[in-house]
Amino acid sequence: ETAINRIAAGEVVERPASAVKELVENAVDAGATRISIDIADGGKTLIRVTDDGCGIAADDLPLALARHATSKIDGSDLLNIHTFGFRGEALPSLGAVGRLTITSRVPGGEAAQIRVAGGRMEPVKPAALRAGTVVELRDLFFATPARLKFMRTDRAEAQAITDTVKRLAMAEPAITFTLRDVSGGGEGRVVFRADRENGDLFDALHARLGRVLGRDFADNALRIDANRDGIRLYGYAALPTYSRGAAVAQYLFVNGRPVRDKMLTGALRAAYFDFLSRDRHPAAALFIDCDPTLVDVNVHPAKSEVRFRDPGIPRGLIVSALRHALAEAGH
Ligand code: ADP
Ligand code: MG
Repeated sequence: ETAINRIAAGEVVERPASAVKELVENAVDAGATRISIDIADGGKTLIRVTDDGCGIAADDLPLALARHATSKIDGSDLLNIHTFGFRGEALPSLGAVGRLTITSRVPGGEAAQIRVAGGRMEPVKPAALRAGTVVELRDLFFATPARLKFMRTDRAEAQAITDTVKRLAMAEPAITFTLRDVSGGGEGRVVFRADRENGDLFDALHARLGRVLGRDFADNALRIDANRDGIRLYGYAALPTYSRGAAVAQYLFVNGRPVRDKMLTGALRAAYFDFLSRDRHPAAALFIDCDPTLVDVNVHPAKSEVRFRDPGIPRGLIVSALRHALAEAGH
């Protein structure tokens, strides 16, 4: 079982940033309004995610560490099981390749803690915590030395974590995010902070994008809001005159999850085709929401790929909505 977990872990957790992604997504799923991420040494020695979400009951802590024991699939999801392909893998995987401590408290319950290191679980014990959940992952890959070799410098891993947190923060403007580097011990240094944004969907998103991508992006972004065949596309796309030079600023989300997808970035290029030069890329943060049965977002747990049942629909929607917005803005 431990060996299986270690093999599976390699699929889910490739590097510290993928562990951060899984833990922050869990905090989002738990309904958190504040999520704090502390890291040390590029996340190699410490990743700690603290949230004020619903918590995990003491009796459920061992379950949360059992493979496929997700609470997020109920009977009605069984038909769409492919949508949840890698559900219930993250915590067991992290517990197999690092030293994992989960401390949690549900409203009205007592705080409790469980530890698992290299796949060996200790009994649940009482703990002190006011509310929510603290997941602490130390010494990632200590149990799988082969994986240790693949990690890059602390600086590169810390940068990947920052990028990951920023992407997740874009998708959740109502949540306050704080990323701290505590490598030196003590309070540490705030690397990124975004306070909860107020307002409707577009106002909050616009404010959050200004916070993450800079005022310059927000001030030069066109609002996108379109529907077709049960798929909604919304977000902001920069005017062609806005340029980040050679830097690519393309952020795509499907059903709230960050994705990297050639078909979608290709659609973005197609929409801007008339305005592109060699050193200019379209900049945009776009959200595609659709029925989960129309898309598989769990093709591979760590790769953020997506597979649409009919890729022509999102592609056509992106091209037409962006061209329309650009034309309206006089381009
Ligand atoms: P999944 O997220 O796919 O269900 P995970 O291994 O990531 O699988 O988490 C296992 C379970 O542990 C979740 O289904 C959830 O019930 C619980 N859990 C994990 N993290 C948190 C959290 N931060 N707050 C509340 N519950 C959590
Ligand atoms: Mg999860």
